[in-house]
Amino acid sequence: MSEEKKEQTRGEQLRRALLYEKKNGYDRLIEGELEAMEAYCTGYKQFLDAGKTERECVDRTITLAEKAGFRPYVRGTELKAGDKVYRINRGKAITLAVIGKKSLAEGANIGAAHIDSPRLDLKQNPLYETDELAYLKTHYYGGIRKYQWVTIPLELHGVVALKSGQTVRVSVGNGPDDPLFTIGDLLPHLGVEQSKKPLGEAIPAESLNILVGSRPLEDDEGKERVKLAALELLNRKYGITEEDFISAELCAVPAFNARDIGFDRSLIGSYGHDDRVCAYATLTAILQLNDPEYTAVCMLADKEEIGSEGVTGMKSAAFDTFMEDLCQAQGVPLRVCFEKSFCLSADVTAAYDPNFAEVYEKRNSAFVNYGMGLCKYTGARGKSGASDASAELVARVRRVLDSANVVWQMAELGKVDAGGGGTVAAYMAQRNIDTLDAGVPVLSMHAPFETVGKLDCYMTFKGMKAIFEMI
Ligand code: MN
Ligand code: MN
Repeated sequence: MSEEKKEQTRGEQLRRALLYEKKNGYDRLIEGELEAMEAYCTGYKQFLDAGKTERECVDRTITLAEKAGFRPYVRGTELKAGDKVYRINRGKAITLAVIGKKSLAEGANIGAAHIDSPRLDLKQNPLYETDELAYLKTHYYGGIRKYQWVTIPLELHGVVALKSGQTVRVSVGNGPDDPLFTIGDLLPHLGVEQSKKPLGEAIPAESLNILVGSRPLEDDEGKERVKLAALELLNRKYGITEEDFISAELCAVPAFNARDIGFDRSLIGSYGHDDRVCAYATLTAILQLNDPEYTAVCMLADKEEIGSEGVTGMKSAAFDTFMEDLCQAQGVPLRVCFEKSFCLSADVTAAYDPNFAEVYEKRNSAFVNYGMGLCKYTGARGKSGASDASAELVARVRRVLDSANVVWQMAELGKVDAGGGGTVAAYMAQRNIDTLDAGVPVLSMHAPFETVGKLDCYMTFKGMKAIFEMI
């Protein structure tokens, strides 16, 4: 045995062969991927800025889908391999499909993400004046930490449905010269008592009132002149009266556009990464798909943040109806399609945050730049509310992702009993569809400004594409 060709020791051999070593994604990128990642993230940032509510995300999705050759599916029409179709559910959710070479009796490959994000909805009787200032009452939507929503700039988005049947779109704040709104907080000089309260109690929900005006109506001696002046402006711009708020869906969202974060620009800060980061990955993957073996389905759902409830949530039969329509065009019973299908429930997971290390279990946490995070199960406490994917299913996904050079990691939200959460996975699994959770790790999830790693965004797109092309 020569000196320079010294063999590995037994320990070295065993380490190589047996140990599971995690590696930073930047050390695993292949030729040309940095550029591809950057281009992908530019598109993603545009998607974020264009879609600050589920309705706006649906609109943007339709534009992109039509450009890629997708058409609304007309029930009863014939479907052949390569056909690209979609259906909108009440303007708030959308399902897209590319018909595969194989019959739907062989199942479909489904990617399901959600496009609603935590926010402040306006109440149905929101506008009031107090002490010559005009405010809008809010009711928070989804899991927010209330103290994060005060003293930040807010935009107002949504619709007002009039009795006439007409629907007026409202969007104030995202134009270059638009005014913004905000919610006040106490000055530290007078915050002595407030500062003693626990974080969750310092800002009560009923104090999340949005400041919308201060200038009284001119030449008038009646009551509530500031409120009246605000209503006059709304009437002039949108043709609405106070009573019309009753049939409105207006919400306040953070007035931040997506921006690169870090000296190295390796991260993206934005409102709404949860779950538009996975929605965009799933959408982009299906838009690039041509002639897949199996039918590919991209589901962008609403209402995940409040439990997937309602007619536009993942529990709604709207998904089954669309899938049944596709199946019927091929003479296939829906249940036969579902039992052979696979669903990747694409939703964000918590990224390990060294500033709050105490809530994470490091061996089983997702890390920024370590790729798409697979979660075998979600839920809380003893896996309550989880969809626990089978070992066989996880093995299949490992095989698919590895052969497509996707950087991925296995993850669990945080320490057992530290909290928990769920996704649409449970409702897909209830349909007798094999389902696994996977998504982008997020820092400060559900905050008005969340942060993700560009590499993880890109790898989730690559992962979704591999799933759609899975045989
Ligand atoms: Mn989510
Ligand atoms: Mn969420």
